Amino acid sequence: MEAEQKGKYFPTEKLLEWYEKNKRDLPWRNTKNAYHIWLSEVILQQTRVKQGLPYYQKFVQNYPQIENLANAQESEVLRLWQGLGYYSRARNMHKTAQEIVEKLAGKMPDNYKDLLKLKGIGKYTAAAIASFGFDEQVAVLDGNVYRVLSRFFGIETDIASPKAEKEFREIAQNILPKNEKSNQFNQAMMEFGALQCTPQSPDCLFCPLESQCKALEKGKVNELPIKSKKIKIKERFFNYFIFEHQNKIALKVRNKKDIWEGLYDFYLVEHHEILQKKQLESIDLIQNYVNDIQSISKIYTHILTHQKIFISFFHINIDQKEILTQKNYQFFEKNEIENLPKPILLANYYKEFIK
Ligand code: SF4
Repeated sequence: MEAEQKGKYFPTEKLLEWYEKNKRDLPWRNTKNAYHIWLSEVILQQTRVKQGLPYYQKFVQNYPQIENLANAQESEVLRLWQGLGYYSRARNMHKTAQEIVEKLAGKMPDNYKDLLKLKGIGKYTAAAIASFGFDEQVAVLDGNVYRVLSRFFGIETDIASPKAEKEFREIAQNILPKNEKSNQFNQAMMEFGALQCTPQSPDCLFCPLESQCKALEKGKVNELPIKSKKIKIKERFFNYFIFEHQNKIALKVRNKKDIWEGLYDFYLVEHHEILQKKQLESIDLIQNYVNDIQSISKIYTHILTHQKIFISFFHINIDQKEILTQKNYQFFEKNEIENLPKPILLANYYKEFIK
């Protein structure tokens, strides 16, 4: 069956045939467990399948039921999430699991509208759970789907503009088969965008949709989709001081509204640049230890979506720990640190230079 959109037809059957031949065998595609589908969707946001897959397996193994996740300590969930980035995803997922267990007796809502009522679940995730878990005929729109629609129909609306969401949702909903194939169709659109109609170098030559693709016809494949909003990257400079006292190291949980909330880090001095040794004499608290500094690391960079962070580590052995415990730092044995949730760069540095 071909779906109609603005007088044009979308070649549904061709897409589904392509999907049958090319789809990857992924564990969340072989389940109707809405909780597991939800886990996979949260993990895969902003993450490639290859990177997300082991995390999905770890979460399903450690928290097979939603109650297991809800009852876990937040620090345990963050530790399991370590390395995946965007830690607010894990914190929100944990809170939403608790809400589902407390208010809905652990039962995931079985439709788009009710899923959307949950605090931590947005339109994309609600549609994915409703479609893949419960076969609801609702279109799932991720970045891949935006790209395929924009190119196939030659839509020049800026996908970062406020009106784009409504326009693309309407189109996606119109071309969605109104039968038992809707679930597969959603999966196929996403997979097609991920494997065939890719952001760079889409495989137009062997594309089953090429004879009807507007972008190809107009020579605009590389221009579409249009996304004008430029992300402003903020540069930050983190000077970490690793205070060691009798083989224990000072760390504190980050609890202000900032990146890495809920994770542990070392004593941090954020400055407008990476500090040189001679500058340390003017830095509060650190000025007392300038002569005790054992080593200074090279400068590392860590890139996040909106931030570029420059990081340097200073190692200091101290005799008295009170000056740090008064500031709510705790001293941990080195083997305890292994199990604390930490930003991945700190975890890697710890493994290589401290452990
Ligand atoms: S022809 Fe190229 S741009 Fe058009 S849908 Fe196929 S892969 Fe995408």
